[in-house]
Amino acid sequence: MKKECEFCEKELTGRWLPNKRFCNRKCYNKRNQQLASLKNVKLPVPCYVVGTISEYRVCVDLMAKGFEVFKNICLQGRCDLVILKDKKTYTLEVTTGFYSFNGSIQHPKKWKEKTWDFLAVVTTHGDIFYEPNLPLKEE
Ligand SMILES: [Zn+2]
Repeated sequence: MKKECEFCEKELTGRWLPNKRFCNRKCYNKRNQQLASLKNVKLPVPCYVVGTISEYRVCVDLMAKGFEVFKNICLQGRCDLVILKDKKTYTLEVTTGFYSFNGSIQHPKKWKEKTWDFLAVVTTHGDIFYEPNLPLKEE
């Protein structure tokens, strides 16, 4: 039975054919990059607008979760949003994340620079991940 490389579609040969899916590491990496770029939507706007879109996506999500949302109007600062719920106040930073070829989500902001309580990572698809998880129930 013939078997083709999942990236370049050349016929695979040699040992371990039943387990083989790619000619080599290069084809394997290129296929994974291809899959990652399919997961990252290219929005038809400049990158600074992508950041703004991410921020508003988070605002809407937080409001739907019952938070009061306050937006930082300075271009810089310790956080992007201040959120209130159950008489508690938290600070929150928003960043845009991109799927990398290994399936994880990469984003530019790291915990060691942390000046906020929560980080919201928003993909260009609009998926939102909070680090750590948001306090959704009253304690
Ligand atoms: Zn190949």
